[in-house]
Amino acid sequence: MSVKTCDLERLTQPVAAWLAGLSPRSVRDAADLPRNADRSYNARDVLAWAARRLPRPTLSDGETERLLVVADEIAPMADDRLPAMLEALDALRAKYGEHVLLLLWDEVLSTWREEVALTETDEGVRQRQAEEERRRAAEEAARRRLAVAVQCERCGRVRRGRKWTKGGAPAGHAVTYSICPACSP
Ligand SMILES: [Zn+2]
Repeated sequence: MSVKTCDLERLTQPVAAWLAGLSPRSVRDAADLPRNADRSYNARDVLAWAARRLPRPTLSDGETERLLVVADEIAPMADDRLPAMLEALDALRAKYGEHVLLLLWDEVLSTWREEVALTETDEGVRQRQAEEERRRAAEEAARRRLAVAVQCERCGRVRRGRKWTKGGAPAGHAVTYSICPACSP
């Protein structure tokens, strides 16, 4: 069997896939792989396209599933900018190969990381506010039942009747600050 150049300029999808060492599906879905008017492929285009492709790692089922879950979350994007975005990315891929997509992912991931950092900060602020809220509520409750300790703001002693003693305010007490006689000028 002899192969003519004109055959190589009109490959079917399965043959193009075989030549690229990829699945027919990868070839079918390749937006940046040029086609002839009759939808066939030129072997030169297929080889050039395959050379621009990053090698695909083989993932385990678990890893594939995690990737699919992420893709399912981010891929649905009903937006009328989609065609223009695809066009822009396909143009870059056609010119630079798939490595250019790493630049896109660098941008996207760095935005996500900033987002996560901000959310964590928000969460920290919320936790501190909630903590402060609880502390104030407990203090008000203590004052209502007259569980109040008077503490010297200079030496930290707490008033117990006529004495001022060390050891801080008893648990569950609100604190009112004052100055003990020893610290009074
Ligand atoms: Zn004192």
